[in-house]
Amino acid sequence: MKIAVLSGKGGTGKTTIAASLSASLKPSQYVDCDVEEPNGHIFLNPDIKLSVPVKVEVPDFDESLCSGCGDCAEACRFHALAAVNKKIVSFPEICHHCGACYIVCKTGALTPAERIVGVVEMNGDKTFARGKLDVGEPISIPVIKKLKEYLKTDMPVILDCPPGASCAVVQSLEGCDFCLLVTEPTPFGLHDLKIAVALVRKLGIPFCVALNKAVEGDSRIQDYCKKEGIEIIIEIPYSREIAESYSDGVLPVHIRGEWKRKFARLYDVIKERVSQ
Ligand code: SF4
Ligand code: SF4
Repeated sequence: MKIAVLSGKGGTGKTTIAASLSASLKPSQYVDCDVEEPNGHIFLNPDIKLSVPVKVEVPDFDESLCSGCGDCAEACRFHALAAVNKKIVSFPEICHHCGACYIVCKTGALTPAERIVGVVEMNGDKTFARGKLDVGEPISIPVIKKLKEYLKTDMPVILDCPPGASCAVVQSLEGCDFCLLVTEPTPFGLHDLKIAVALVRKLGIPFCVALNKAVEGDSRIQDYCKKEGIEIIIEIPYSREIAESYSDGVLPVHIRGEWKRKFARLYDVIKERVSQ
């Protein structure tokens, strides 16, 4: 089963919950799809053994063959090519690798060339996998796609998604059986939870909410979930002990057996919800 752990905003404790779920399930695979800022390794301490570069195809331009017609720039809906005074200027970082420019160029001035945009890294048994987008690269989709080639099929897979509701999130959610939406009881937490709920509903993925940093007397998330008929599957209290262990890179499941049992139980409940 593939479980996506998603939050509408950063800082809600998404990685803590994804890594805790993975750490309390043996065996399981933890997959860090938050490729712009992967940090699950801080908690899970994997011994990285395998590194696979992520390559994309971008147009290589041979000026001597170019007639200056400008058809390629017109065909590129991502503005990765521009025609300036009958000369072609390319912006490979924003190329989406659609291939339209090769098709429209009649002179053979454009040919595909490889470009490395990131890396996928794994431990020896591939129970930990993460993608890393190179600094300065704006498009994370190819890294997430490559990372998802390594998903295991013989154990639960926990995908730590990027925060938000972007194309990278949709790419991470694709093919998942269940989504755990992590939120916190703040105005931003609620606002972004609503966006995340709209996204997973649109994608038709079963989901529940994990409420992190829950405080007595603030029921905004509970009220919203009740109104929308959404189950809050786990509540983690706002706790100094958890915050301190987090800052030391220690998961709640490693400070108390109680939390380990709660997260193992969480997986059983998710399985029940998926089967329903
Ligand atoms: S379509 Fe080909 S020939 Fe025309 S401007 Fe582009 S690269 Fe040059
Ligand atoms: S491959 Fe597509 S996105 Fe990239 S430069 Fe060519 S037309 Fe533009």
